[in-house]
Amino acid sequence: MQPTTEILLIKYGEIALRGGNRRFYEDMLLRFIKKTINTVADGEFSAYKEQGRFVVQGIDGQNPSHLIPHICRIFGISSVCKGIRLTNRTMDDVMVAVLDYFREHNPNPTTFRITTKRADKKFPGKSDEISAQIGAHLFAHIPNLRVNLTNPNFNLVVEIRNSIYIYSQDVEVAGPGGLPPGSAGKGVLLLSGGIDSPVAGYLAAKRGIDITAIYFHSPPYTSERAKEKVLDLAQHLATFTGKIKIYCVNFTDIQLHLTEKTPPEKITILLKRSMLKMADLCAQNEKALALITGDAVGQVASQTLHSLHAMSGTTALPILRPLATYDKKDIVAIAEKIETFPISIRPFDDCCTLFLPKHPETKPKLSIIQSIESRIETLGELYQKALSEAEIYHF
Ligand code: ATP
Ligand code: MG
Repeated sequence: MQPTTEILLIKYGEIALRGGNRRFYEDMLLRFIKKTINTVADGEFSAYKEQGRFVVQGIDGQNPSHLIPHICRIFGISSVCKGIRLTNRTMDDVMVAVLDYFREHNPNPTTFRITTKRADKKFPGKSDEISAQIGAHLFAHIPNLRVNLTNPNFNLVVEIRNSIYIYSQDVEVAGPGGLPPGSAGKGVLLLSGGIDSPVAGYLAAKRGIDITAIYFHSPPYTSERAKEKVLDLAQHLATFTGKIKIYCVNFTDIQLHLTEKTPPEKITILLKRSMLKMADLCAQNEKALALITGDAVGQVASQTLHSLHAMSGTTALPILRPLATYDKKDIVAIAEKIETFPISIRPFDDCCTLFLPKHPETKPKLSIIQSIESRIETLGELYQKALSEAEIYHF
């Protein structure tokens, strides 16, 4: 047997394309991988960079397989392969190791394919020649074997880098893709207890946005359990993003004040505008560069294109709406996949469902909304007060 070590070979997608900034993204991703494996198994595994890949291996040769589900959640990673690293690196070593690996992982061999990736151009031979040589070695030792390049029963990859790695592509596990957590700067997510905004937060975080969340509630009209639900959502999102800070803002006075001064059919838009304005103040405190909401065009009255237009002028920051073009069923499918759905459907209402009109306007006019808003005094002070009194939690 060749001396080998069991490893995880981690591939990353988009950041491999990022010219001059590539190193910044790689270092960030590697730090996150190290943090993740240390959280799961403190000090037992190491992670290092290896010519366009990351490698995780046990400090004392432990099998790292149980780390796969944790690593597969990390944004920026395109896939994880369980395989082996060769200690020696001559062609003879490779052939012996491949044969051992083949016998161990494929007890009933029928068809196979070998793919060689020669990142280390100093290693002699072209990739196809190396694959052919390894294939010939397998034929010589294993009876009844056939090559099938399109649909093989065993898909073996040999990657020649600083070390040589062997793995089966058949057990490659997909990661989420995207960009490393926090690599894009900060955004403030308007997080309600609904289905949409946690999914919007997940998708924004997947593009590398460091999420700070803000939640508006209206006690005693909304319950403590509605707040707990949102905190649980934030905590769950933090399992993808590494950390989340959330502001819980008491919205009661503002909601009552607005309800008193606004025609009922326009209240929803004014409430949403208030939320955006307060999120904007929060973003200034946090030095965030964008706001994020779970709006989807046409989903409800407050999300028609007219309504979204009527939210204009509340912030100078870009408002990211990752779900703008999604159908509800597609949003639900993501919520189920990322496991926010069971939390979101707990039956506790957020503030917006209070005092809601029977017939909200679906085509509000920005100029009319702005003129109503401008006549309501003390709003600015109420925003500042509510924000300064917000409860802040860290996950
Ligand atoms: P969600 O499922 O995210 O609650 P929704 O379909 O209920 O969305 P709306 O109530 O119109 O739709 O809210 C649209 C967006 O406004 C939400 O996705 C969220 O970003 C923000 N939002 C609404 N209510 C709140 C709240 N109480 N706190 C923070 N953000 C909110
Ligand atoms: Mg909602």
